[in-house]
Amino acid sequence: MVLSAPWLFDGLGGVRREAAVVVDLATGRILAVGKAADHPDARRVEGALVPGFINAHGHLELSHMRGQIPSGLGMVPFLDAVTFGRTAEPEALAAAIDEAHGELQREGVVGMGDIANTTDALACKRRSPLRWHSFIEVFGAVPGTWRKGLERGLPVLEAHRTAGLSAVLNPHASYSVAAPMLAELQRLAGEAPNAAGQAAPLSIHLQESPEEEAWFREGTGPFAAFFGKLGLEVPPPGEGRSPAEAVLEGLQGSSTNAESARAAPPRLILVHNTMAQPEDIARAASRPNTWWCFCPRANRYITGRLPRLEHWLDRPEPLDGRILIGTDSLASNARLSVHAELQELAAAYPDLPAAQLLRWACGNGAEAFGWSAELGAIEAGRSPGLLVLKPSPEAEGMGQGLENEAVPAAARWFGQGSSMEVLLPAGHR
Ligand SMILES: [Zn+2]
Repeated sequence: MVLSAPWLFDGLGGVRREAAVVVDLATGRILAVGKAADHPDARRVEGALVPGFINAHGHLELSHMRGQIPSGLGMVPFLDAVTFGRTAEPEALAAAIDEAHGELQREGVVGMGDIANTTDALACKRRSPLRWHSFIEVFGAVPGTWRKGLERGLPVLEAHRTAGLSAVLNPHASYSVAAPMLAELQRLAGEAPNAAGQAAPLSIHLQESPEEEAWFREGTGPFAAFFGKLGLEVPPPGEGRSPAEAVLEGLQGSSTNAESARAAPPRLILVHNTMAQPEDIARAASRPNTWWCFCPRANRYITGRLPRLEHWLDRPEPLDGRILIGTDSLASNARLSVHAELQELAAAYPDLPAAQLLRWACGNGAEAFGWSAELGAIEAGRSPGLLVLKPSPEAEGMGQGLENEAVPAAARWFGQGSSMEVLLPAGHR
């Protein structure tokens, strides 16, 4: 089949006008990308063709918590509500997970990085046509006892790997994993190469809230009481360091011999970053294979803040090739829609180029997870899924109209009333 459209965003930051895409419907594979004028019989699509989305951070197993926790509680009450309110009947849990999976498909997601503390979502992921990488989340904040936390994750890891799913033991957050445990988890990830020989990516929740900053920098705030409620010995705070500084130093501890010091460390996805300052970002940028994931709707839901994108973009070497998009879970988001996350960013940053946002949501995500051979870009040889974006109706009347804009802005393609349709879903591979 040949499709043509007035716009094409390739998912790698490129924009084409009047483009045509030749696609093998049986496999979803893109055979060629060319000019609409060369394919007068193409099926015409009005709007912009874009590749399927990569959702870099979610918790499918929390899907039954939609609407259960009020927004605006702040970080520690939110953690408290998830920790003590997440139990559900197995049938209700499975049904909620399947429903959330259906939403991901309707929202054009083709690959996902999924946090798991349990095997609750394993059956769904095994049936799913999406690509998955599971972060088996472990906790161990107290230096003397973290190995027990690591061991608790092993059966969940084993169950995922036995089912043929890519998975790695993964640190929960800056405040819940001790430095030596970070180093050990990084070492273990380095020992688990995927089919392409790459080490499995790790992720960590980082710099999500002012409370986390207060705990690390001053040892104050509600985190101390929360540790007590969990029945944990209160771990040492960050001794004046920022959470990013503490985490990156902890990870460095794993370079214990000359060989591992020379090798590039496993890919690492820092999730949230709403409180990250330029010095935190510079420090993380100096670690090879480091990425930042933004979940703007969840940030609004829990803390009311968004990351300051200018810290990543207004630098001598902009980091837009290292940014990813996630939805987080239905405990802190009403939807599992990467498109809605881009709309949230566009409302705060209307002048960002739309092609840049789509690079974060497509090509960068595929690269971070090692899926670039198949997903993330409209490019001959890949099978990325295909979506159509329809611009904001208000934008149609703006300025010179769609046809003459050289750098289409986020406001036009993700502004109010903009929409998205799935043309070719996940699973053609
Ligand atoms: Zn999360």
